Formats: sequence, structure tokens, C-alpha cells
Amino acid sequence: ERMVSAEEQGMEDSLDQQIRPHKLQQYIGQEKVKKNLQVFMEAAKMREECLDHVLLYGPPGLGKTTLSGIIATEMGVQMRTTSGPAIERPGDLAAILTALEPGDVLFIDEIHRLNRMVEEVLYPAMEDFCLDIVIGKGPTARSVRLDLPPFTLVGATTRAGMLSAPLRDRFGVLARLEYYTEQELSIIVRRTAEIFDTDIDEEAAVEIARRSRGTPRIANRLLRRVRDFAQVKGDGTITLELAQDSLEQLQVDRLGLDHIDHKLLYGMIEKFRGGPVGLETISATIGEEPDTIEDVYEPYLLQIGFIQRTPRGRIVSPACYEHFNLEVPKQ
Ligand code: ATP
Repeated sequence: ERMVSAEEQGMEDSLDQQIRPHKLQQYIGQEKVKKNLQVFMEAAKMREECLDHVLLYGPPGLGKTTLSGIIATEMGVQMRTTSGPAIERPGDLAAILTALEPGDVLFIDEIHRLNRMVEEVLYPAMEDFCLDIVIGKGPTARSVRLDLPPFTLVGATTRAGMLSAPLRDRFGVLARLEYYTEQELSIIVRRTAEIFDTDIDEEAAVEIARRSRGTPRIANRLLRRVRDFAQVKGDGTITLELAQDSLEQLQVDRLGLDHIDHKLLYGMIEKFRGGPVGLETISATIGEEPDTIEDVYEPYLLQIGFIQRTPRGRIVSPACYEHFNLEVPKQ
């Protein structure tokens, strides 16, 4: 498994529960989003209504699920969780919606992957809290309207652009989550270390933060692995030197790039003189799906300016050559 993958890996679920913030106040960073949400939640509470539907978008691992859970806690309701690909038929969605308690938060991860038929059922549910169900077949078929308890839909997606316009328009609150700063991530690392009862030096927390690609999920994962090294190779305390050595061992370089990033960037440099090169070609060269490259590997490389997108394809920037101690090719 990829050390710096921001995707969920299942096995670490119970640990994840322990370190997940439950209150807005414990949620580090994303100040703008937090400030707005606080106002919207307070207003909804004053009116004794449920919060308007919220769409959270941004790269994986930045805390969409966490924020949705916080919304539920702060509003004093339950969160039900599902995902776009899990809801195959309109009936599946109807079952979920009719089981909601008044005010509940329904979290739909990967909401851009809902199919059209299911989406059609979701529109009236979001707008008027009702379901239009067709009973029977052929000439005797008739439509029945079912009332639903009011609820807040929190949709999460890594690709807001792939949401259909009618679905996007039905969200009252759109919030884009940004990559975290090194300082925010080092606070998250120290907070998690405290929950684990592990001593960590400040510079060590910064070092882990620096190599976490702006992503809390990665920061927490790297911390866990470095903690293992500290326990076996040291006296349990995470010092800067120990953090550096362990991260080296884990093949995460000083910017948080790993062997897959290296393969991608070196591939572009060696085979295509740094580009421009198309996504499909990169995909064929390194043997990864174009979607995976676009959703998982590329966003951070774009963010740190190692890759740029041009109309003719992706190009490697001079900063990337410098990182690898390579000479920048002349035009
Ligand atoms: P995905 O979109 O892939 O589901 P996500 O954006 O929903 O990812 P989460 O699962 O919510 O990401 O967060 C990943 C981990 O990072 C969680 O274990 C949580 O503890 C931690 N985390 C996320 N955001 C924050 C934050 N702002 N402050 C502290 N910890 C955070």
C-alpha cells in the first residue's frame, strides 16, 4: 500500500475513530469554511430548522467525513453514512431516506457517482422532503407521494465538476476544503500524538507535517508508522532525527513525494523531456488509470507547482527539476 495515499484503507478504523475531532473547535484549519458553517448552524438552530444541504468538495483525506460528523454533533443529531456507488437503485435510496429521524444528517460520500435514476429521486427529497414512488407496472402504475422527515444532506466529492448541474444547484452551502498548511498539520500531529500518549518533539511534528502533502489523513498515518519506529528503535519519544530516519525508511522524501510520484515525474522527464504530455500517455507509461492520476497523484503535484497543466498537456516545472537535482532542459 502507498504510504502517502490519502485514500481510506479500512484496517485502521478504530484508531481513526479515536483521533477524529467531534467538535468544530477541535477541527484544525479550514477557517473560512468553519466560520461560515458556524453561522449557518447557529441560524438554523435559532429557527429550529435543520441545516441547509451542504456540499463538501476537495482532494481526498482533507476531512470531509470528519466535518460531516461534526455538523451532526453540533446540530445534536445522528449521522447516517453511505456513498454514491453503494446506492444502486432508487429503492435503496428510498429505504435510507425513510429510515431517517427528523433533523438527521445523511452523508453521501462520492456523491458524483450517483446514477441518474437515483438522482431523480433525490431532487424532491432535497427540495420538499418527499418521495415520489411509482407503484405497479404498465397501465395500472401510479405515483404515490411519501413525506420524509426533514434532513440535511451532506455530499462529499473530490470532483465538484462531475456533479450534474441540477444536483449541485440543490445544495444551499458549497464548501471547498483546501490543503492544510505545514503549521496546521503539525498541530494535528501533536494532537494525535497526545491522544496516543506519545511524546513528540516540536521539530519532529513539523517534519512529519512537511511530508504529509497538506493532508491530515496522511499526517496521522505517517505519525503512526514513525511511532512504531520510536517504540522499536528508540525509547518511544519521537525526536527529529528519529522522524527523519523513519520517513526515509518509509521512502517518503522531504516534500512528501514517494516512489509513485517519482515514477510519474521521472517518466515525464526521461521519456518526454518534461512534456507537454497527455494524461493518457502518462497513464500508459506508468501503468496507472488516468482517473487515479487525476484524482490521487496529480492534485498535490499541481499544488506544489511541480506539474503544470497546459492546453497541450502536462509539463514538469523547473522547481521539480531542482528538487531532483536535475538540470532544467533548455527550450
Ligand atoms: P475522503 O474524502 O477520502 O473520505 P475525508 O476528506 O473525508 O477523506 P476524513 O476521513 O474526514 O477525510 O479525515 C481523515 C483523517 O484526518 C481523520 O482521521 C481525521 O482524524 C483527520 N482530520 C481531518 N481533518 C482534520 C482536521 N481539520 N483537524 C484534525 N484532524 C483532522
